[in-house]
This record gives sequence, C-alpha cells and structure tokens, in this order.
Amino acid sequence: MSLPVPAVALAIGAHPDDVEFGCGATLAKWSAAGTVVHHLVCTDGSKGSWDASADPATLVVTRQAEQRAAARALGATGECVFLGWPDGELESGLRQRWEVAYWIRRLQPTVVLGHDPWKRYRLHPDHRHAGLLAVEGVVAARDPHFFPEQDLPHHRPEALLLFEADEPDHVEPVDGFADAKLAALQAHTSQLLSTMGIDEAASAADVERQRAAFDERIRTRLAEHGARAGHPVGEAFKRMET
Ligand SMILES: [Zn+2]
Repeated sequence: MSLPVPAVALAIGAHPDDVEFGCGATLAKWSAAGTVVHHLVCTDGSKGSWDASADPATLVVTRQAEQRAAARALGATGECVFLGWPDGELESGLRQRWEVAYWIRRLQPTVVLGHDPWKRYRLHPDHRHAGLLAVEGVVAARDPHFFPEQDLPHHRPEALLLFEADEPDHVEPVDGFADAKLAALQAHTSQLLSTMGIDEAASAADVERQRAAFDERIRTRLAEHGARAGHPVGEAFKRMET
C-alpha cells in the first residue's frame, strides 16, 4: 500500500475522463505532495456523445479543453498530451506503441498508470488497447534498442499501476482527495449525461439529485477500494514493478 510519492507520474487513458475515473484521487494526492502529473490521452474522444447531431470536430476541441480543466482540478502541473487516434478505432500496434514509448522517454515518469488490459469481460476496445499500450510502451521505453531513432535516452519507470484492475493487489489511500476527483470528473462537462447520468436539461431539482447520486456512486467506490486495505477511501490497482 502507498508507493513513495513519485517525482513524476504519467497517466495514460483511452479517452478524456478515463484517467479521472481510474486514478484521479491518487493523482490529486500526489500533485499536492509535489509530483509532476502528466496526462496522455490516446484517442480524440470524437464519439463521446449521445447526441447524433453533435459535430465530432467540435467535440474533439471541447473534450481537450475539458481534459485540461480536469487536470487543473486535480492540481496537476504537467502536460496533457493528445495522441488523437480516432475514438473507437484505437489499436495497439507498433505505431501507437512508438508514440507511447516516445512520451515515456520524453516525460521520464517515475510511475506510469493505465487501464488494466487484462480485465475480463471488458466491452470497450479502446480501453483494452490503451491498457496494452501503457504496458508495451513501458517495455519499449526502458530498453535502448527499441526505437533508437527517437534519439531520446531510454527510461525505466519504477512502477506501473493498472486501474480497473482484474486482480487488484495495491491500494493508494486517498483520504481528503475525493472532492478533487469529483471536481475533475465534473470538469468533463460534455460527458455529464452519457457517463455521469446528469441531464442538464432536467429541472434544477432533478439535476441536483442526479449530481448527488453520481457523487455517491464515486464515494462508494472509493470506500470499497479503500476497504480492501483497511482504509476509509482508496483507489485500487494491479501493481507491476518494471
Ligand atoms: Zn473511456
């Protein structure tokens, strides 16, 4: 339980908002302790709307701005990198691995966080591929003979934490950081309806009720994860030492 506070953390998600769901409170805790927190988002988020008339190009720009606002809400001071692969069509091929390894070498994270690609019965392919890219990107980044044309020093992170873990074996206590996680999630305004069940077209009373229900869902999950290690609140991961 509880890694030493890393100097630099890189969180890799498939879409804007995945990182906040998966490890937002941990990133807020580390940011408060001085960690430089970077986000790397693999897809452009262009399919993240239930509105069939929404313009995908506008959605991409909106979601990038939301991701930056969410990072600020966590207290993150690092970069938000967007690889821009089309939403729903992410693959974990060599080209994508090249990019992830490049950013690991460039940002030199002590800890990398990403989706668990081996979580059973996962539906969304982007989450599985983004998870594989985090794992395979670490492997490529740490050894000098992978992608030597990048002309960057190879870099070996100390640990890889996989969120949404199929077999969690590590908990980061996040006492005092649930509010930051919630604020960061709600910065993804375009996702309020589809992901958080908050319909801003509803009456003020209903919106209030829906927000409270979403908050409760997140707080309950933090309590469940924390309970695995005897803590009031936490985020659970599969930890891999690299
Ligand atoms: Zn996602």
